[in-house]
Amino acid sequence: RFISFEGIDGAGKSSHIDALAAALRAQGHTVLLTREPGGTPLAEQLRSLFLQQPMDALTEALLVFAGRRDHLRTVIQPALAAGQVVLCDRFTDATFAYQGGGRGFDATVLAQLETWVQADGAGGLVQPDLTVWFDLPPAVAAQRRAAARDADRLEREDLAFFDRVRAGYARRAEADAQRFVRIDADQPRDVVWAAVHQAVFGRPLA
Ligand code: C5P
Repeated sequence: RFISFEGIDGAGKSSHIDALAAALRAQGHTVLLTREPGGTPLAEQLRSLFLQQPMDALTEALLVFAGRRDHLRTVIQPALAAGQVVLCDRFTDATFAYQGGGRGFDATVLAQLETWVQADGAGGLVQPDLTVWFDLPPAVAAQRRAAARDADRLEREDLAFFDRVRAGYARRAEADAQRFVRIDADQPRDVVWAAVHQAVFGRPLA
């Protein structure tokens, strides 16, 4: 099973991903916890390049998709083939949200890259089975933001940028409503966790 987690910076997804990994392991699943941009030595190098310096949106998208290709082939697909549960902190929807929505890059070009990079060899695309989208207003996310973060977008982008990123996620969620579960992340942590649990396990917290 392949589950991705999405949301603007500061949406609070990381702690829930860790809690979910623990819950799945307690049920006997082998869990692969990974992230994008990154997830392999090569993709992590591409991530630091892309986070270190400003570059045009297509260059960003190409780096992110190059890393994704490596990540899929060397980590995600082998793990799925071995029956593991893959939890990925961001995946392609982030590219549509950030490079597409945030930076205004043409989504049809991103969709072409997606088709090439995620081809499963059988005429389909490798996509998460479930995408948990932590949605909240950018102003709330900015207030919540923890101090210790690697050089991130919040340092160089304004709230309007994150409004566009959020709208980018909303478009993806609408286009693929079967895969997406939107969680209102502007709620207390335990309420958000209960929603994550429901989305993944299909039943409420015991
Ligand atoms: O999710 P994480 O905090 O690891 O992301 C690191 C940074 O990269 C964040 O600032 C995020 O906004 C940015 N990012 C991006 N484009 C992507 C994915 C992440 O600008 N496609």
